[in-house]
Amino acid sequence: MKAFRKQTYSKSATSNKMSSRHLWRILGSWIIAQGVLLGNPAVADTAEKTLSYSQLLQNMDDGEVEEIDAYPSQNIAKVTLKDDGESIYTVNLFEYHPELLEKARANNIDYEVKKAPDSSLAMGLMLNLLVILAVITLLLMLLRRTSQAQGNALNFGKSKARFQMEAKTGVLFDDVAGIEEAKEELQEVVTFLKQPERFTAIGAKIPKGVLLVGPPGTGKTLLAKAIAGEAGVPFFSISGSEFVEMFVGVGASRVRDLFRKAKENAPCIIFIDEIDAVGRKRGAGIGGGNDEREQTLNQLLTEMDGFEGNSGIIIIAATNRPDVLDGALLRPGRFDRQVTVDLPAYNGRLGILEVHARNKKLDPEVSLERIARRTPGFSGADLANMLNEAAILTARRRKEAITPLEVDDAIDRVTIGLSLTPLLDSKKKRLIAFHEVGHALLMTLLKHSDPLNKVTIIPRSGGVGGFAQQIFDENMVDSGLYTRAWLMDRITVTLGGRAVEEEVFGKAEVTMGAANDLQVVSNLAREMVTRYGMSDLGPVALESPSGEVFLGRSWQTQSEYSEEVAAKIDHQVRAIAFHCYEEARKIISENRAVIDRLVDLLIERETIEGEEFRQIVAEYRQLPEKQLASINLAKN
Ligand code: ADP
Ligand code: MG
Ligand code: ZN
Repeated sequence: MKAFRKQTYSKSATSNKMSSRHLWRILGSWIIAQGVLLGNPAVADTAEKTLSYSQLLQNMDDGEVEEIDAYPSQNIAKVTLKDDGESIYTVNLFEYHPELLEKARANNIDYEVKKAPDSSLAMGLMLNLLVILAVITLLLMLLRRTSQAQGNALNFGKSKARFQMEAKTGVLFDDVAGIEEAKEELQEVVTFLKQPERFTAIGAKIPKGVLLVGPPGTGKTLLAKAIAGEAGVPFFSISGSEFVEMFVGVGASRVRDLFRKAKENAPCIIFIDEIDAVGRKRGAGIGGGNDEREQTLNQLLTEMDGFEGNSGIIIIAATNRPDVLDGALLRPGRFDRQVTVDLPAYNGRLGILEVHARNKKLDPEVSLERIARRTPGFSGADLANMLNEAAILTARRRKEAITPLEVDDAIDRVTIGLSLTPLLDSKKKRLIAFHEVGHALLMTLLKHSDPLNKVTIIPRSGGVGGFAQQIFDENMVDSGLYTRAWLMDRITVTLGGRAVEEEVFGKAEVTMGAANDLQVVSNLAREMVTRYGMSDLGPVALESPSGEVFLGRSWQTQSEYSEEVAAKIDHQVRAIAFHCYEEARKIISENRAVIDRLVDLLIERETIEGEEFRQIVAEYRQLPEKQLASINLAKN
């Protein structure tokens, strides 16, 4: 924010300098133009001839002059000669020319003093005036522009609404996959927009607001656009954060502008992204309320009340924090419909992959089912991004179509990081290999663990030395119903890296490489104890889901247990971790031979696929059932 402000100021400073330079160029040419125009007032009239003053006097004496019209304001005289009646001679006069009048009287010449300038002079003056006018207009425009650049300080009250309008979004429901329930619910909104009579005829009130709730990247914006696209109505969109400005009153005036424009274009959709930025509970948050935000919210509420149900405007808002929204926003007549847009399950991911594979060249080898199975927890945006990464990799490798290899690399790239060049053979490389083989071996030997996809010691950006990757059981991921046995095995697998380090190199040589693993273990074990009732403390929930501190809700979270219970929780967490660590140590010491062989292979090849890994381990041990079944699973 600060950097942004600074930038605007320095920008306006340069534009000031530039405009003054520009101004001088214009002023310079104006002065030149003036000079031309004033210097030759009769420049336009080429038919005229000239006489010098002395010639005129001579001609008068000779009796050749018929008539003299003097223009004192311009110091000229127009002379008509007797033998040349058509031509008018112009004579430049001196400032004082007393003898002219005397001579005229003496020679009986018609002498007339004229006040009004002649037509060419009027033209000249008019031109001058035009030039002056043009310069003034230019100056005003320049002034306006500089003042606008200076942070709109002068006219912030009439701020330009920063919303976008799309007459046709071009997005259809077909482009949105994997969120079928949400789509079905919103199909109705399309009907509201297309055939409101159907509802109003029987006295039904059309809803005004729909709140889309879900994590980022799940397709909320896309869905709102699809509604507009399907109904064929304009789409107005603004982000909640754009309402909240430095100047008080700007947000409110933006809301007014937005609704005014929308009313002019009804029927239409208004989409407010990140509504939590303006719609947070009023009078809450760290440091008290924010007047500006509250004014904006009030304006929004007023506008929503201000139009009748069938005006053809439907407001769709998106947020991933419905819990922080002000109650007034959720009242009937406002955002009274909530539609949840969740992370896609297996079928959803498959659908989304199909949508985004439409315009990409895929090798027949690529199985979207397999990708969908490998990507639990991916949002629609993640999947779209991953497929695009695969396409980029394919182009970079000069291949005709995306092959499974590019897809795998793209998934790793999105989930773990860019791959870097492999380490040279060194003690560090050996240690990483042991650590990762430790994880991988436990993944392969534990009864409830999901099978290994691959283990690699090719480093990744973000300080990842290597990793052992599992193929998660999609049913469990999608339902979120993890068993206690699965969680325990997960903790054991996670401790496998450290366990091998200690087994092979001794207690003194263990490294900090396991820091992340230990973090995961602590979190999992603590959740098992305090939320899932999976410890000796019994089936009690001791904590509500992660009470992250954020603006808009009371930040003093109160623990729901006493000091005494806290000590017991710590004790239980520790018990779980120790139990799992012992288990990991035991399995590892029983399998030193295969570990050493796998480590040598890994150092040589850098990556071992799950399939091969399992086959090698199977030469030494009987694999659990789940692992044997998974060999087939990983293939298709
Ligand atoms: P959100 O608004 O929920 O954060 P977006 O609608 O902006 O997510 O999604 C970003 C992009 O991700 C979309 O433009 C689209 O390419 C892709 N995407 C997300 N969800 C879906 C989906 N359900 N179906 C198809 N594409 C999706
Ligand atoms: Mg969005
Ligand atoms: Zn590890």
